[in-house]
Amino acid sequence: MTNTVAFISHADCGRHDTGWGHPEHVGRLRAIPRALRNDFDLYESVDHLEGRHASEDEIALAHDSRYVASVRELAEAGGGRLDADTVASGGSWAAATAGAGCVLDAVDLALAGKTTRSFCAVRPPGHHALRDSGMGFCLFGNVAIAAHYARRVKRLDRVLIVDWDVHHGNGTQALVEDDANIRFVSMHQWPWYPGTGAAGDRGPKRSVWNVPLPAGLPRETYVGELLRNVDAATTGFTPDLVLVSAGFDSLAGDPLGGFTLEMDDVSRLTRELASRAGQWCRGRLVSALEGGYAPDRLGEAAVTHMRALL
Ligand SMILES: [Zn+2]
Repeated sequence: MTNTVAFISHADCGRHDTGWGHPEHVGRLRAIPRALRNDFDLYESVDHLEGRHASEDEIALAHDSRYVASVRELAEAGGGRLDADTVASGGSWAAATAGAGCVLDAVDLALAGKTTRSFCAVRPPGHHALRDSGMGFCLFGNVAIAAHYARRVKRLDRVLIVDWDVHHGNGTQALVEDDANIRFVSMHQWPWYPGTGAAGDRGPKRSVWNVPLPAGLPRETYVGELLRNVDAATTGFTPDLVLVSAGFDSLAGDPLGGFTLEMDDVSRLTRELASRAGQWCRGRLVSALEGGYAPDRLGEAAVTHMRALL
């Protein structure tokens, strides 16, 4: 085991063109290496890797294969609209398969024992995508695909997903809740988009911990509640892999959320999860970008997150 952290992305993630004025734009991703270059020690310390493209079969570990093909065909035809705020462009197939593939590469690296901790700077985000439809800026559930890949291809017994994006990871929940050995903890603003994720919604296997909280609470309440629920979800359940849906729209000032987290909280949450992963599973932790719509804050948060992973 090494102490390196992999920073995984793919140039194709920039090819998903959402159109003028859309909050989920390529500038979000570009902000990350820009912020990283301002932290030269960290820039030198992380392993910069370009991920692979996930195959259609790999994406179909979590999605309906007809839906997967329909996204490819829509992109091949030049693009179109999947829902009111979710679009595909000609480059979206390359982007979405690269986004999912980066997270799969990170799982491979973690299981090979080489680089146990990774941050994947990917777009489009994934945690709202449903089995047979895109939703909420998301085409494919990058983290849910990785969870099924870990379970069914890599034969891991237990996977934990922690989602701190300000929005409920409704897609992730829908894609993993039938597997009792994938536990999902999502903290999100309530009431807020997409309207799902009540505390009483534990999924059919009671493997889901939803943590809905109002906007504007003291920062430490969010940190404390998320960690309390992570500990509840892992009582009697030792994960072999921790996946993080790192949405930085839970930071104060995000245009699409009302949570109050600051950089110190990103650092604290990251360290707490990495420390638990150290006890559970030799430190295997794979984090993937979800939301975050103030690009400068997103860049700083991603750097803070990687520094804490290191
Ligand atoms: Zn979000």
